[in-house]
Amino acid sequence: MTEQAALPAISTATPYYIAKSNVCVNSQKQSIGNGVFAGRKFGAGEEITAFKRPLVASLETERLSDTCANCYVWTEGSSTGTRLYVPEGTRVSKCAACQRFWYCSKACQKEAWNRGHKHECKMLTSMAGKQPPIPKAFLACMEVLIRRGHRLISDDDWEQLCRLPSHIEDFKQDGRCENIEMMAMGASRTFSHKDFDKDFIAAMYGRIISNALTLITPTLDPLGIMVDPTLCSVNHACNPNAYIMMDGPRVSLRTLRPIKKDKEIFISYIETTNPYHIRQEELQSRWFFTCRCAKCQKGTTLQEDMWKIPANPEFVVSAQDKQSMASSQEQTFKVYDKIQHLADPKVVIPVIEQALQICHESHFWPIHRQPYAALRDELILHLLAEGKYTDAWAQCAKRYKYILPKLYPVPFHPVRVVQAWQMTMLAAYLASTEYGVGVPGVQMGLIAMMLVKQVLDVAYLSHGPENAFTMSVKRKAEEMIGELKKCLGNADHEVMNRELEVQRDMLMEMGDWAKDGEALAALENFEMAEKAFSV
Ligand SMILES: [Zn+2]
Ligand SMILES: [Zn+2]
Ligand SMILES: [Zn+2]
Repeated sequence: MTEQAALPAISTATPYYIAKSNVCVNSQKQSIGNGVFAGRKFGAGEEITAFKRPLVASLETERLSDTCANCYVWTEGSSTGTRLYVPEGTRVSKCAACQRFWYCSKACQKEAWNRGHKHECKMLTSMAGKQPPIPKAFLACMEVLIRRGHRLISDDDWEQLCRLPSHIEDFKQDGRCENIEMMAMGASRTFSHKDFDKDFIAAMYGRIISNALTLITPTLDPLGIMVDPTLCSVNHACNPNAYIMMDGPRVSLRTLRPIKKDKEIFISYIETTNPYHIRQEELQSRWFFTCRCAKCQKGTTLQEDMWKIPANPEFVVSAQDKQSMASSQEQTFKVYDKIQHLADPKVVIPVIEQALQICHESHFWPIHRQPYAALRDELILHLLAEGKYTDAWAQCAKRYKYILPKLYPVPFHPVRVVQAWQMTMLAAYLASTEYGVGVPGVQMGLIAMMLVKQVLDVAYLSHGPENAFTMSVKRKAEEMIGELKKCLGNADHEVMNRELEVQRDMLMEMGDWAKDGEALAALENFEMAEKAFSV
């Protein structure tokens, strides 16, 4: 959200414009901030606007040595081949002087050097090896100031950046201000620029911490943070009509749903599938606001807050039931937070499986309620890392059948597309092994082909036709179809289509293979209904 200020009139013929927001309002319903609006009508799955790169970005400390600091190609981290868009053999090597940033090519290094690294490299050299590592937001702040000091940021960008709120008063309230001011004090000594005093730097640092978006790969892996004055002006909603997509350094704003001309554009800053109170807590603590989006206005009455209860209309949810739901949710979120700090799949897998079993046996958790669903995502990643491919496959099939359509009803929602792609590549891998999934009649090759075609159809909308991800899916689809044609020779089309139907049914059946707990499975036969209420 940007602070209110006089803005130059922008023609609405442009794809978007910045104006007073309808959601950033004070208690008297007066607008207190700006938002980004559609300058024309957009369909679903369209690009609203794109930038060659964000104004500034900063990699996670762990990503520094395996990611290009210019084009953001992440060279490591793929275990399942979902990142086919990264050219084989891509390596990064470090800047010999500061030893902080790594680049995938001489061209990338040169580009970054001229964009401003030449003015900061020396300073970073003196900070090399410092422990604890310098926060990424602080590095982004320094880069912005250094580049502006050398007139490498345009007046327009600079003005728009400075209009973003710094939230210094909020940081004072939550106790983080002291640290911000200390960092700013240290930084102010390195600037001879008269405008960059301690308070100005503290405000800029606060602005970057509280407005940064996540820097991602096309498969949504988080790499760090980015700040762009336009994109950071897009407000949040828990039922957004748009989202940010990246392709290397290129960053675009795309529509999730059709947007009428002059309607405000929203993205989501958080995981919108979480229950109401979790969303509000996160938005309040990280972005300092209470969300009043259309979804939040419905409070705890929506799917995210549903529990399963017996369908019998006379069944009354007791205070005790509510209490056990609340504590179960708290426990499950605790497990979810805990596993974020555990790396060894051998340790993590049993922890997740136990949590899934508890959710399952409690009988009031719908399979798509968070973090029950998010725990399964983690389980899949760890099973893949452990090489337990058939187990991972059963979980993917369950997610594909029961969870993705519920959580992401828009078929080209980027999360849904990327998770379906993960499943596709797993199917392709299993098809290449001798036993597949070890069940007669299941033809993983055909299932993989069916999935790759589905992913390709939606990738045009989720990522756009030019995105490296879409092009890699297209190449894979062509390769698989070519192989299949070779195998089939002149096979009958009708026979082929019938076989595909059979495999589609098989895929749906496989969605029921994975069980979160066998013990009380018999109780499943009770008829349950989903009902929302606050706990
Ligand atoms: Zn590069
Ligand atoms: Zn350097
Ligand atoms: Zn909301």
